[in-house]
Amino acid sequence: AEEGVSHINFYSVEANEDLKERVDLQQDLRKALQTNEEFFLLYQPQVDAQTGVVKGGEALVRWRHPVNGIVPPFLFIPVAEQYGLMVALGEWIFRRACTQAAQWQQEGMKDVSISINVSGKQFSAPNFVDFVAQCLAETQVDPSGIIIELTESLAMDDAAATINLLHELKSLGLQISVDDFGTGYSSLSYLKNFPLDELKIDKAFVDGLPNDKGDQAITSAIITMAKKLSFKVVAEGVEHKEQADYLAQADCDLIQGYYFSKPILPEEFMSFYREHS
Ligand code: C2E
Ligand code: CA
Ligand code: CA
Ligand code: CA
Repeated sequence: AEEGVSHINFYSVEANEDLKERVDLQQDLRKALQTNEEFFLLYQPQVDAQTGVVKGGEALVRWRHPVNGIVPPFLFIPVAEQYGLMVALGEWIFRRACTQAAQWQQEGMKDVSISINVSGKQFSAPNFVDFVAQCLAETQVDPSGIIIELTESLAMDDAAATINLLHELKSLGLQISVDDFGTGYSSLSYLKNFPLDELKIDKAFVDGLPNDKGDQAITSAIITMAKKLSFKVVAEGVEHKEQADYLAQADCDLIQGYYFSKPILPEEFMSFYREHS
């Protein structure tokens, strides 16, 4: 019975490896991308580590599948990447988030930046900068309130081209953040050569705070280094008060995690902002 339930409501983790289900997911995703009506964005607040005031929100995509319910991004984003659908999906996400940010700016939500995840495929698409410029013009959003979060797109294999692209984006007035810093593709050589504004300390290093000596050393070192380079630092995956206290005392700028709020609907984000500003 348990298996039946998980099949009706949810793509199982195993489905990720199963070719037939992957193809089904791909076909459903392709169909969903014709109207985009099944996608929506949640926003997770980022608060000032010292004051608890809301300073940002990360846009996180969700897919409400008509039969299977909410499909989590770790299942459909890899499929979108694999089947060449990520640029279309990423463009919808980017436009939606800019539209929302513009509306919030008009409604007086000041000093709150909106962070948008951009996948490697989207970042390296030939028209990405033009797309972003057009989006900013269309939505009339103040670009200084938009932060692009990048991960694997910052791989060092063509650093010169990446640096050029980052400069073009920055000349549009946006900010650039390195997501999941300290894991995967991220590298210390970015910090010296890439025009960045922010580092996000991965949850993996926050998990062991405040007691784990290794996590203490790594988070403190990232924060100190970021400050010296004049980058903002965000810690993600903060679930407990003790983690938040440790990070505040270590001089981390912003904190994001379930301890403050899960990703929430736009109207809930506005209420959260009113209560924490
Ligand atoms: P990410 O960019 O590292 O996003 C943070 C993830 O951690 C989110 O999962 C968020 O809900 C979750 N999270 C936040 N605080 C906590 C916490 O305190 N505890 C725990 N256990 N988790 C926390 P989500 O929304 O499921 O997204 C997973 C990943 O999928 C993201 O990781 C990102 O890589 C990708 N993703 C999500 N939305 C988008 C999007 O719009 N575009 C792109 N390209 N990727 C996205
Ligand atoms: Ca992110
Ligand atoms: Ca992250
Ligand atoms: Ca992460």
